[in-house]
Amino acid sequence: MEAVSAYIGLGSNLQSPVAQVESALVELAGLPHSRKVRASSLYRSAPMVAEGDLAAQPDYVNAVVLIETTLSPHQLLAQLQQLEQQHQRHRERRWGPRSLDLDLLLYGDATVVSSDLQVPHPGLCERNFVLIPLFEIAPDLRLPDNRALADIVSACSRAGLTAIPRGICG
Ligand code: ADP
Ligand code: MG
Repeated sequence: MEAVSAYIGLGSNLQSPVAQVESALVELAGLPHSRKVRASSLYRSAPMVAEGDLAAQPDYVNAVVLIETTLSPHQLLAQLQQLEQQHQRHRERRWGPRSLDLDLLLYGDATVVSSDLQVPHPGLCERNFVLIPLFEIAPDLRLPDNRALADIVSACSRAGLTAIPRGICG
């Protein structure tokens, strides 16, 4: 089977988020039947707030990584969920704090619609903390519906999002 380019979004806002994301990048590079191609910078973003949910939570650290893989979309999702478990993801509410969130953003040109997996990830086009790091590593990307990522990014606000200078990430 030919390797497919898959983009994975990482997010963390608990327990040393920079360290969580950096160790997850190493773990993703070690996934079976896969190789890491490149990763974005790390970004800091203000948390999404669900309606009626005023509880404060810490800022997120986000990044996007490109891998090439011969895992199927569902096999890859299972691997991502296993890594989330290893990072002891405890969550009490939707969009609540989490030590590690791994989303399968894109899997080649595939569109997947099943009960446990949707690709492209449903939040992809609304979330600047996904779009901007994705654009950093894939400026010429087109989505499966043939829209140019650059067009979506140019319409998206950068509010609340800042790149973390590399020196601080160590
Ligand atoms: P979000 O990532 O949108 O903040 P969650 O991480 O809480 O939301 O969602 C987890 C659920 O989303 C999992 O049960 C998983 O089966 C489902 N899911 C659907 N599509 C995807 C995808 N492309 N990547 C990761 N999880 C997905
Ligand atoms: Mg998720």
